[in-house]
Amino acid sequence: MTQPTSQAAPDAITTDFDAVVVGAGFGGLYMLRKLRDELGLTVRGFERATGVGGTWYWNRYPGALSDTETYLYCYSFDKTLLQDWQWDTRYVTQPQILSYLEHVAERYDLRRDIQFETGVEAAHFDEVAGRWRIRTDRGELCSAKYLVTALGLLSATNLPDIAGLERFTGERYHTGAWPANVELANKRVGVIGTGSTGLQVITAIAPEVAQLTVFQRSAQYSVPVGNGRVPPDQVDAIKRDYDAIWARAKRSMVAFGFEESTVPAMSVTNDQRQAVFQRAWDAGGGFRYMFGTFGDIATNPAANETAAAFVRDKIADIVNDPETARKLTPRGVYAKRPLCDSGYYATFNRPNVSLVDLKETPIREITAGGVVTADGVEHALDVLIFATGFDAVDGNYVKIDLRGRGGKSIRDQWQRGPTSYLGMTTAGFPNMFMILGPNGPFTNLPPSIETQVEWISDCVKHAEQRGAQSIEATADAERAWTTTCTDIAAQTLFAQGDSWIFGANIPGKPNTVMFYMAGLGAYREVLGGVVEGDYRGFEVRSPVSANHERVAAAD
Ligand code: FAD
Ligand code: NAP
Repeated sequence: MTQPTSQAAPDAITTDFDAVVVGAGFGGLYMLRKLRDELGLTVRGFERATGVGGTWYWNRYPGALSDTETYLYCYSFDKTLLQDWQWDTRYVTQPQILSYLEHVAERYDLRRDIQFETGVEAAHFDEVAGRWRIRTDRGELCSAKYLVTALGLLSATNLPDIAGLERFTGERYHTGAWPANVELANKRVGVIGTGSTGLQVITAIAPEVAQLTVFQRSAQYSVPVGNGRVPPDQVDAIKRDYDAIWARAKRSMVAFGFEESTVPAMSVTNDQRQAVFQRAWDAGGGFRYMFGTFGDIATNPAANETAAAFVRDKIADIVNDPETARKLTPRGVYAKRPLCDSGYYATFNRPNVSLVDLKETPIREITAGGVVTADGVEHALDVLIFATGFDAVDGNYVKIDLRGRGGKSIRDQWQRGPTSYLGMTTAGFPNMFMILGPNGPFTNLPPSIETQVEWISDCVKHAEQRGAQSIEATADAERAWTTTCTDIAAQTLFAQGDSWIFGANIPGKPNTVMFYMAGLGAYREVLGGVVEGDYRGFEVRSPVSANHERVAAAD
């Protein structure tokens, strides 16, 4: 794996740019290319890490794998890039995705315009100049007409505030900031957290560690991921069909590539339902299990319960010890981000793996030597792994001193939970665009990222052609979009799932709708309609007269 060496701040940092892009993951890299190479703007990228990759730079924990199939976990904007990418497994691992993104950065010569090891600390909109004034954690200042934040929606790590945390004398890691060269073999390891990440890391390290203690707060519904080799003729067939595959994905709901079902679960017999669930179980993939089996698993409680019960039965079949099986068995609604795994439940049949149910015996404290639970047991550990997720969606935003018109901070703007117009803009923050901002689509993400990057690029082009000083969402449009997202989410069961999707995983965080849950196809139609309506819901100000046009808010 190659990483750029530490860079000195380039001289150009003291000048004014047309655009600043923060973040160098999937979103930031493509944004930089669009604005620089297609619109011809001067662009500076800032990235806190030493290299590109975003999620795939930071999450180097053992077992890290995308659960989007390989052929849709990449960019589609360049057909040659699509054809050139060599792959032979159904899913790609973290090192493979990182090396893909490094290749992208190399291929389009993106690194020369990204300043690494540099966090953006503050960005203030100067209303007189119509420009963003940006300060980095190196103390540098620069300005830009446009600010694009590609800060990641699963990027700000969540380290729970557990009593005694600092006393632990062993090794301590968060999966979302995993260092190089961690050696776990033959050690006593504890893992807190059993989300997508926890499942992957637990399954991957169980065979090598001396003892693995899993601290589970919520039992999880998970299905097999179904990874494996894809024979060359199938890869070739996919490559020949790429145009149609991507067009279908971008018209679909969750953009995972499989056919989404519209059949209601209760419209078939129990035997037929079991057969459909079994086929999905055998095929692999969490989103396929939730959205490819029946059309109402995420919306109808009775349908949802059938899918949940099927997984519960599987747990009972797979896990040998009835007490462990009981603890691993979820009872509530199946409505978190769908999980899949490479043998998670079976991992608990290993003699070196034990499960602590934190609902029965919560963590009392962390000591120098391990974790003490409410029953007084000290679980002795050499290594403690936090697979405790992220302050999702707005977590990186509220860390920045980000201020729009009138000096209003994003923290004040989002006091009652993050909102946006179209998942990309927020009122009072002119010329600022968010990639994967709040209330964007809930999907396989690269197709949504591409959709947003391309829309932002068109919007900037439009503003420039119009000679605008600024373009920004109106408060009315933002309110209408928030209502739309809230109404759609209310028709789903996700709000009952208590997860990061609604901000429910962070103590004290407002529990709000953070996604547009009608799917990517519908989202793209909305975006197209906004453009056709001459950027409906946006206000455009011209530099000379300071007059501004307001385009009526979206319905
Ligand atoms: P990120 O990749 O998160 O990049 C954001 C970057 O911004 C980071 O590098 C960060 O350092 C930088 N940054 C943040 N704040 C600042 C600042 N103030 N100054 C400078 N830099 C800053 N999605 C899927 O669709 N399918 C999957 O299978 C899938 N698997 C995942 C597995 C894991 C372990 C995780 C954590 C997420 C997964 N995701 C998956 C979601 C994944 O985050 C997205 O698919 C995608 O990688 C997001 O890209 P991004 O560019 O928007 O953000
Ligand atoms: P997560 O889904 O939020 O899971 C965090 C886990 O930590 C949960 O089990 C949670 O328990 C537990 N936890 C949090 N605080 C705790 C505390 N104080 N004490 C005990 N347990 C605590 O985070 P994640 O697993 O990192 O995944 C986040 C998202 O990243 C996923 O939903 C997915 O979108 C993406 N991801 C995808 C993949 C993939 O397969 N492609 C892999 C990793 C991540 P509760 O459930 O009780 O809150």
